[in-house]
Amino acid sequence: MADEKCTFCRIANGRLPSDIVERNDELVAFRDIDPMAPTHILIVPREHIATFNDATDDPALPGRMMLLARAIAKREGIADGGYRLVLNTGAEGGQSVDHMHLHLLGGRALGWPPG
Ligand code: 5GP
Ligand code: ZN
Repeated sequence: MADEKCTFCRIANGRLPSDIVERNDELVAFRDIDPMAPTHILIVPREHIATFNDATDDPALPGRMMLLARAIAKREGIADGGYRLVLNTGAEGGQSVDHMHLHLLGGRALGWPPG
C-alpha cells in the first residue's frame, strides 16, 4: 500500500491537509490530529515504508528522524523539560497507521510504563 491509499503518504505529498512543522527532501513532520500531549508531532519518511521492520539496515534514515525530532523539540521549547520519542511497530506495538512514523511527545510530565 502506498500513496493514495496511505494517509501519511497523502500528508507527505500534500494531498491531505495537515499542520506541517517541517519538510525536507527525505522527511515530513506534522502535528498529530489527536494529540496526547501539548506537543505531539509525527516524523515520517516521504517514502512509503510500512513499519520500522521494513526499513533498510542503513542507520541514516532512523538517525535523521531522531535528530529532526530533537531539533523540533528544541524549537518547541520542550527539550530542557524533557520529551519522549516513540516508534510503535506492528500490531502489538500499537501501530495503527502502516507508514513508519516517530512520535515526539512533550510539554507535560509523561507517565511510565505505557499501556
Ligand atoms: P500509531 O498508533 O500508528 O503509532 O500512531 C498513529 C498516529 O497518527 C495517531 O496518534 C493518530 O492520532 C495519528 N493520525 C492518524 N490519522 C491522522 C491524520 O489524518 N492526520 C494526522 N495529523 N494524524 C493522524
Ligand atoms: Zn505511506
